[in-house]
Amino acid sequence: MAHIRLRKNREKSVLQGHPWIFSGAIHEIDHGIGDGDIAAVRDFSGAHLGYGYYNSKTQISVRMLSFSTDPVDDGFLRRLIISAIEKRKAGPSLGRTTACRMIFSEGDFLPGLIVDRYNNHLVIQILTLGMEKLKSRIVSILEETLHPESVYERSDHEGRKLEGLSESSGQLAGTTPVEITINENGASFNVDVMRGQKTGFFLDQRDSRMLVRSLSKGRKALNLFSYTGGFSVQALAGGATKATCVDASENALIAAHANAMLNGYGDKHETVRADIFQYLREADIEAGIIVCDPPALVKSRNALEAGCRGYKDLNLQIAKKCRPGTMLLTCSCSRFIDMDLFQKVVFSAFADAGRRAAILGKFGHPADHPVSIFCPETEYLKSMLLYIE
Ligand code: SAH
Repeated sequence: MAHIRLRKNREKSVLQGHPWIFSGAIHEIDHGIGDGDIAAVRDFSGAHLGYGYYNSKTQISVRMLSFSTDPVDDGFLRRLIISAIEKRKAGPSLGRTTACRMIFSEGDFLPGLIVDRYNNHLVIQILTLGMEKLKSRIVSILEETLHPESVYERSDHEGRKLEGLSESSGQLAGTTPVEITINENGASFNVDVMRGQKTGFFLDQRDSRMLVRSLSKGRKALNLFSYTGGFSVQALAGGATKATCVDASENALIAAHANAMLNGYGDKHETVRADIFQYLREADIEAGIIVCDPPALVKSRNALEAGCRGYKDLNLQIAKKCRPGTMLLTCSCSRFIDMDLFQKVVFSAFADAGRRAAILGKFGHPADHPVSIFCPETEYLKSMLLYIE
């Protein structure tokens, strides 16, 4: 098989199980290796390190799949997929949920592949050219191992452009319903897997929704960047006296109110369509529990400073306005900001507001979004629970 040889002393991270090889670590590439092809990876001396897929267009030139002499054949891919399924059974409880991420890219040693299960329907997202080339094999193995009623593709992700791929969505197997009603810890949600954000629902906030539910009794909940109302419905299930969803998207708010009604909370639920940066400057905040879960405000390393200003602004406005005794779950899903930096940003917001707050807990993504210990870069979601005096 054609091979890629690394520069001298650049094999260490691969030997340690890190799947990414940056262009600067490569010494030579055999002729004939095309973008998206699988190649054997060797160290400078020629010793075999494993197999990975190559793309000349991306800074991460190779993503490793096999770290041994095992070739990337159907048996190999099946073992990885079965291992991902087993991990979800063996790991900490995912709660009582009918929706779960089954494959989380590098976290399940399948870089570039996301598979979410909504009841018995699968939604897949392919983020890289190398994985795109394995797509039909992966779909067959998913069908054999999970026996889904349908498989739908949501590869309409802007990151694909960097890989030289266009966006692509559509039915791959069976028939996916226009709306799927999932159950998460006793609450029901209608999910639009064909048009919703990500693959339809923010599965990564499941544990934090339960946290909010456990803290909401007797409080008014304010759900900033509410999307389809996940936090609001769980707050109401936990005994919140009222929940307000704020979002810029009319469709998201319509879906949020439908979800509140689906669970019998229509009369305690309200929606506000607004730009939240503006809303926080104008509105009177009387909530006892606030969730602030914006989209990734830092989209690249170059945008770090501007993004941090965004997080600071949100937390500053909340800190200035909220009532004493408020609980705040403040989140960042930007992978370029780690927990330490996020905490500093939130600290500076509270320092500027002259408001005392204590961190009661720090949280990340749940067990169906595992982080490979060899690839900590894939950890992206950070939340802090604050008690504001
Ligand atoms: N907390 C949600 C997920 C939030 S996704 C959940 O658990 O399901 C981010 C949401 O922020 C999207 O619905 C998007 O419409 C909204 N949004 C993005 N920028 C916004 C802005 N400036 N003002 C209001 N809403 C915004």
